[in-house]
Amino acid sequence: MSHNRLSMSGRPMPDDDVHACFICGEPFVDGQMVIVDVTEGLCHRACCGEDRESYVRDIDTCEPLGRDDPIPAGDPYRSEDFA
Ligand SMILES: [Zn+2]
Repeated sequence: MSHNRLSMSGRPMPDDDVHACFICGEPFVDGQMVIVDVTEGLCHRACCGEDRESYVRDIDTCEPLGRDDPIPAGDPYRSEDFA
């Protein structure tokens, strides 16, 4: 039942036709920095925090960040990419 779905923050997710962050449950807004989670999909970069172990170098290979790799900055959200 989609209306019972909760984000990781415990707040309810919006309707299925609204593209929202699985961590905070807030709909994405164009220009917000977002990043893809390996298992859950897209989330706000800011919601992911600064834990290096939460990130991979390459989402396709799940290669972990190297010692000198910066934490990925994410990409600006563009709603037309997900329409
Ligand atoms: Zn979020």
